[in-house]
Amino acid sequence: MGPCLRRNDVSGYLAFLVNICYALSVLNPGRHFMEISVIIPVYNEEKNIRPLCDEISEVLGKYGRSYEVIFINDGSTDNTLQELTGIKQSAPHLKIIDLNRNFGQTPAIMAGFDMAGGDIVITMDGDMQNDPRDIPALIEKLDSGFDLVSGWRRKRKDAFLRRVVPSRLANWLISVTLKVPLHDYGCTLKAYKRDVIKNLRLYGEMHRFIPAIACWKGARITELEVNHRPRQYGKTGYGLNRTIKVLLDLLLIAFLSEYSTKPIRFFGGMGIISGSLGFLSFLLVVYMKLVKHTDMSGNPLLILCVLFFLVSVQLISMGFLGEINIRTYYESQNKTIYHIRDIL
Ligand code: UDP
Ligand code: MG
Repeated sequence: MGPCLRRNDVSGYLAFLVNICYALSVLNPGRHFMEISVIIPVYNEEKNIRPLCDEISEVLGKYGRSYEVIFINDGSTDNTLQELTGIKQSAPHLKIIDLNRNFGQTPAIMAGFDMAGGDIVITMDGDMQNDPRDIPALIEKLDSGFDLVSGWRRKRKDAFLRRVVPSRLANWLISVTLKVPLHDYGCTLKAYKRDVIKNLRLYGEMHRFIPAIACWKGARITELEVNHRPRQYGKTGYGLNRTIKVLLDLLLIAFLSEYSTKPIRFFGGMGIISGSLGFLSFLLVVYMKLVKHTDMSGNPLLILCVLFFLVSVQLISMGFLGEINIRTYYESQNKTIYHIRDIL
């Protein structure tokens, strides 16, 4: 007797086909078949491009997973772009994004995220200070169930006083403020599962804060010790002034983490404190008038009282404006204030 297909078998078959199609990304043509995307922002790194590409090919070429390497040329003024295009002729894994001008490391990394097709995304510096040989260990950590693995340059090879000390202080401050303890937020060598960076928007110098942002959204994060090497060619694009930028970004991100969906609690809270101080000053002015017969109009406390009241009204109004703003932000784009990991 030949094989016969009952109705249930047919629908089972159809479901199977649909699943296959989905897996082949036919239903999602923007998506490529790619396992690993390595994202490297470069600014004036002409001498590092070739050796870095060689190192990456050596590691990932024999790793057995499909990969792409995306270089983002961040407005270099040397021969970085020429080096990249020269290598591209013989390197099918290479993609080059050439930005209009120098935007900075965070926008360059964002451009890479937007272009990456891999299920696993790795970011690293283009100055050869990070070691591509660490990539397999980072991926193994992801495979063991983590969503984000952050590199830790335990033996950092940078100037001790100018770079290492400020960085240790900054890492301590960031860990304490954001309540996500990591030893090395500044290490660009990190590995992400695609979901972590999906819909992520970064501004300023914020690429270093991705682990904290991801952690607040419920991602499982960890860190892994990685190799760090001294810079051989080119020079760092940063100095001490980056510390101030990072501090300001930290302030902003600490505010956003706590109050981005409830700004009235921040501004309203400060408004209430200011209003209470105004009321106390008022009581003091009245007490001084009635008991000590101090002239009210000549009492500077009265001016302080008016100032506190005005500031209080301003702050609470800002809180209301903030509340209207976040409603516009979430409702106009159908964004939710929660994040679902899975629906079972
Ligand atoms: N970089 C960039 N845009 C910039 C500055 C730096 O894309 O405006 C790149 C740079 O080429 C390197 C990475 O960001 O690949 C890290 O920069 P750098 O080595 O200067 O920073 P450091 O390692 O000293 O913190
Ligand atoms: Mg560097």
